[in-house]
Amino acid sequence: MDSLHINYEDCFVTHCSGTGRHTDPNDPNCTASDKGGMRCVTRWITITHTDDPCDTGGGGGSGNSNPPSGGDNGVTSGSPPDDEEPDKSIIGIGPNDGLDSINNLETDPLCEDVGKRFNEEEFKNRIEQLDDKLDETKEYGFVESGPDNFVAVESSLDRTAITNVPIDSTTIGMMHTHYDNYPNGDFSVNGTPMMTATIKVPSPGDVGVFLKLLRNAVANNIPLEKVYVTMISSKGNYTLKYEGSALDIPSGGSVNMLSPQDFEKKYSDYIKKYGRQRGLLKFIKDEMAVTNVALYNTRYNGKVKRYFLYGNKDKIDDETCYEN
Ligand SMILES: [Zn+2]
Repeated sequence: MDSLHINYEDCFVTHCSGTGRHTDPNDPNCTASDKGGMRCVTRWITITHTDDPCDTGGGGGSGNSNPPSGGDNGVTSGSPPDDEEPDKSIIGIGPNDGLDSINNLETDPLCEDVGKRFNEEEFKNRIEQLDDKLDETKEYGFVESGPDNFVAVESSLDRTAITNVPIDSTTIGMMHTHYDNYPNGDFSVNGTPMMTATIKVPSPGDVGVFLKLLRNAVANNIPLEKVYVTMISSKGNYTLKYEGSALDIPSGGSVNMLSPQDFEKKYSDYIKKYGRQRGLLKFIKDEMAVTNVALYNTRYNGKVKRYFLYGNKDKIDDETCYEN
């Protein structure tokens, strides 16, 4: 996210601009052609992330559309400048500095849903069962279809992803493991077994399953905010959620016409180059044109973090969006 624009409406009473500055527009002594009255304007705040990782997201500016009397009581990062002489020709009604608009952003219902699900007994049990299977040679998981109905699934072959995901009219989500790194049979010159590293963040295939679940949810009137794909690994648990509308669910797949092999290869190149969270988000954006898919990381202390890209260089940042 480069910068975020928040629009809000702010209303003012303007004076009758005649001699004596009568406040009441109905005052018969106000003879000016501009009688004054209530004016509402759309103002905006722009919050810009800089590329500096130490910057907490401040900066930015604001503006007015068609400001009354030409005044610009703009706010920067939600704080009105206090060194500015207020324009006395306008009077704010219920002064609105846009802070409410910013505060509303802090509630992320998708994040809250992730946090609450991970604290539910039935859900937590399944996660714990999967935690115990990370050293196996297959992926294991559960497909959630209907209240507390978790259907067990697993890879059909060793060292492959789960491909058979049974979806019915009640399916809302899927959780599964990405197994640990494993010895690939080769040895280094000093005799240490060589390991194949597995990618411990949802794969493009998982994103594909997620999009399929979203389309299924639309067809069956399941609220989209319930739909999830969770990945369990030794490096943490990640959940995909969707924040777009039913009308523009991305189609997924390679937008650059890559063969399945090249597609996978490119994905692991992204992970090597950008790291797990940034690699995944950047890959689905650049190579799959997938937007509005949010990535959450659940912590053992009950907190949920959201990872997101920002700036024109797609840097990665995270923020805690739920605390139990
Ligand atoms: Zn997966």
